[in-house]
Amino acid sequence: MLRITEIKLPLVQAETLKHQDDEIRAAILKRLEIPESDLIRFEIFKRGVDARKSHAILYVYNIDIEVKDESRILARFKKDPHIKPAPDTSYQFVATNTQASEHRPVVVGFGPAGIFAALILAQAGFRPIVLERGKEVRERTKDTWGLWRKGKLNPESNVQFGEGGAGTFSDGKLYSQIKDPKHYGRKVLQEFVKAGAPEEILYISHPHIGTFKLVSMVEEMRSTIISLGGEIRFDHRVTEIDINDQQVQGVTLQTGEYLPTRHLVLAVGHSARDTFEMVYNKGIYVEAKPFSIGFRIEHPQSLVDRARYGKSYSDDILQKLGAADYKLVHHAKNGRSVYSFCMCPGGTVVAATSEPHRVVTNGMSQYSRNERNANAGIVVGITPEVDYPDHPLAGIELQRQLESHAYVLGGSNYSAPGQLIGDFLANRPSSEFGDVTPSYTPGVHLTNLESALPAFAIEAIREAIPAFAKQIPNFDLKDGILTGVETRTSSPIRIKRDDASLQSINTKGLFPCGEGAGYAGGILSAAVDGIKIAEAVSLSLNA
Ligand code: FAD
Repeated sequence: MLRITEIKLPLVQAETLKHQDDEIRAAILKRLEIPESDLIRFEIFKRGVDARKSHAILYVYNIDIEVKDESRILARFKKDPHIKPAPDTSYQFVATNTQASEHRPVVVGFGPAGIFAALILAQAGFRPIVLERGKEVRERTKDTWGLWRKGKLNPESNVQFGEGGAGTFSDGKLYSQIKDPKHYGRKVLQEFVKAGAPEEILYISHPHIGTFKLVSMVEEMRSTIISLGGEIRFDHRVTEIDINDQQVQGVTLQTGEYLPTRHLVLAVGHSARDTFEMVYNKGIYVEAKPFSIGFRIEHPQSLVDRARYGKSYSDDILQKLGAADYKLVHHAKNGRSVYSFCMCPGGTVVAATSEPHRVVTNGMSQYSRNERNANAGIVVGITPEVDYPDHPLAGIELQRQLESHAYVLGGSNYSAPGQLIGDFLANRPSSEFGDVTPSYTPGVHLTNLESALPAFAIEAIREAIPAFAKQIPNFDLKDGILTGVETRTSSPIRIKRDDASLQSINTKGLFPCGEGAGYAGGILSAAVDGIKIAEAVSLSLNA
């Protein structure tokens, strides 16, 4: 297999894939100067967009090809950096259950990290048992809507907790900046496609699948794990880890049931605060880590599209490239960095608390991304050294304080406190919505957000918004909306693990995994971490 990179072609309609195939074949033949009969097959490995010239936006392809005489072509193009052997990205299991081991690993949490840990263990024949505190995804969806529609929170079944984990009600962005020399990300995307995701996620550079598709994919992956001998138990919250002689012996559930295991994957996500407290109290090594706090910002999507597509903005471009996104960073004079987080084109702002009497914002969208508003977190980085130095769990305390205050500012009924951008910049309370209607439900209560975050964060965001308007004209739109608070940007702790065995540095048999453990941020990286942990568990089970 060879890989040709940087083949540039004009944009085409997404539906006209056949035409695209013909064009791509022609481009390959021209590039390699070979007859059609020498090209056996090709597969698009990646497709990006080159939008540097707004009047001539292009697709940029990396294509894997099988040709009749590969070595002759490689010799002919040996000085060409864009024609090389394609790396082998196929997934290889590091260990399988050939010893018919009776020891079953236990995976706590069925978000992306837990799903992939369990899937790989199941595929390798280790029959994992998954314990998930929340409900199966359809039931969970009803509970989540209960908060959004009726202001009724179920603390065990919500946006953060339940089958599929935190990203189930999300934009389903499936890209990450992690280093991935073993191509685990490819395995994740291939499994998602098997579970029903559109094939395009394998090759487009910024794939997303939206919330509806995620729900059915999660169900499909559950069936696969069960068909391979795994077990998944919902409404099973782990309340205690039994440790003897610095080795995990088993876990206790909220029902009092005890489950013995010497291989425990802890993939509980960034919101399992009760579990973090238990882990800390058991003496398992935990340290505080940086995270970010801020607000969600909402603009009309057309404002972002116009800024991003510039002169080529038209219905035609929108149809071909979809709602535009942005990624912004500003280094404020007070030394803080402000950046956009989890931008959701054509999406909605969602209520994302898992604890009663607290308000947290986040964003999600459907596959079509065709809601009226664009939203993103506008967040400020904070660190334990400067902002919460006293205790490994002090970051959680800070999150709780901000979320409780937001609940009160919002009117103590799960409405989010909000302010128009113009009023926020001028530091005066808002009293009336303008041209932008907020999407957060159960509602937005207009107020002054001045007290919603520490002063340094307010100051940095006030400076950043006009600076962002230099990149996205009208980003400081006076009627744009800020809602708060955005506090669950990543885990406030790390359950530190040993680099080689991936087990806790002071508790054998405990494999901290995914975002909650501080080793991932986002769906793809959490899933990749799940694969890594499954491999470490497999090796340990076979040792
Ligand atoms: P989680 O997904 O949080 O899963 C942890 C699971 O553990 C949960 O199901 C929880 O119920 C369970 N659990 C917790 N404690 C216990 C216990 N004691 N016993 C048993 N079970 C327990 N990321 C992206 O990459 N793209 C996006 O578009 C995106 N959008 C998002 C939108 C929203 C609204 C939210 C909330 C998050 C979004 N994210 C997105 C972030 C992404 O969801 C997370 O990074 C990812 O889900 C982390 O995966 P995880 O498996 O480590 O943890």
